[in-house]
Amino acid sequence: MIELRNFVKNIRPYKPGKPIEEVVRELGIKEEIIKLSSNENPLGPSPKAVQAIKEKIENINIYPDDNCFYLKKKLSEKFNIQPNNITVGSGSVELIELIFKAYVNPGDEIIMSDPSFIMYKIACHIFGGKRIAIPLKDHAHDIETMAKAINRRTKIIILDNPINPTGTIIRNDKFNYFIEKVPENVILVVDEAYKEYIENENYPNAIDSLKKHKNIIILHTFSKIYGLAGLRVGYGFSSTNIIAALMKVRLPFNVNRIAQIATTAALDDDEFVKKSYKNNEAGKEFLYKELKRLNLKYTPTYGNFILVHFECEAKNVFQAAQKRGVILRTILEYGLPNSLRITIGTPQQNKRLIEVLRKII
Ligand SMILES: *Cc1c(COP(=O)(O)O)cnc(C)c1O
Repeated sequence: MIELRNFVKNIRPYKPGKPIEEVVRELGIKEEIIKLSSNENPLGPSPKAVQAIKEKIENINIYPDDNCFYLKKKLSEKFNIQPNNITVGSGSVELIELIFKAYVNPGDEIIMSDPSFIMYKIACHIFGGKRIAIPLKDHAHDIETMAKAINRRTKIIILDNPINPTGTIIRNDKFNYFIEKVPENVILVVDEAYKEYIENENYPNAIDSLKKHKNIIILHTFSKIYGLAGLRVGYGFSSTNIIAALMKVRLPFNVNRIAQIATTAALDDDEFVKKSYKNNEAGKEFLYKELKRLNLKYTPTYGNFILVHFECEAKNVFQAAQKRGVILRTILEYGLPNSLRITIGTPQQNKRLIEVLRKII
């Protein structure tokens, strides 16, 4: 066997939620299958994005704009940030990889919560970073302990806000306390993949902190509320130095032409974002109520997913639900064997989910 790089040997590959096509193949299920395992938008993609793709699809013989000029321009206007403080990637996971690629030397320490979004751990392994995993406290970031873990070997700190898989947020006051503890030569990554689902005065305005702190990078994505996970586009805001460093290590044309056109159009689709937000709020209330009725414990969420806790190994519930055409997400790899992460769906999907859970437990 050809020997792998040492860092790569122990990596367990990222395991996405099961695709619908795969479940159909494996189980031959006839009824409609619903996928509540990857936090996708159950209302579909932004219609403005779809329209833009239809109009421009003929141009795919031409390479994309390597600089994503129009997308950055739109983001610049929307968030009041200069284009040279913006970077765009093939999903925010690419940006996470680029941050590690540009900055992590083997042995550098990376502080993150345990559990937190699994890609952080994987990136850490790929680049030989030393993962400093701080256990969650009441399903939320333990900010004090994270701050105490900072030392001269610390290179990156990553906060997912809210956390995938628990859905909890770090509040404004704690966020402001924490950013003052992070030295200038340490990068603080704030991953706000679910930001548009949150309208709460306690949710930090991370963009404000960029004015004072050149070491912060904020990540957003089109995969969640905009419903464009299949196009793979995420973006980041940071100081010009960090943005320039990430540009050094990326592949050219990392965001394809269709993706650029569609996401630029989606940024104008306030109506769709609002509708998706409302669907999520209503679904959350419905599921809270029904889960309580089923005597199931859950962690109150700020995202478009709910972490539900079972008395038994959640894998059994996962398999039984899948047989009934409902795909959920086990989070064994996050160290939570008795919990499932469930995406909030459409009203019909949520009802079906509850019916299936009632039958199973
Ligand atoms: C879903 C998710 C992302 C999005 O990744 P993309 O590559 O943009 O699709 C990023 N971070 C967290 C915490 C997520 O849950």
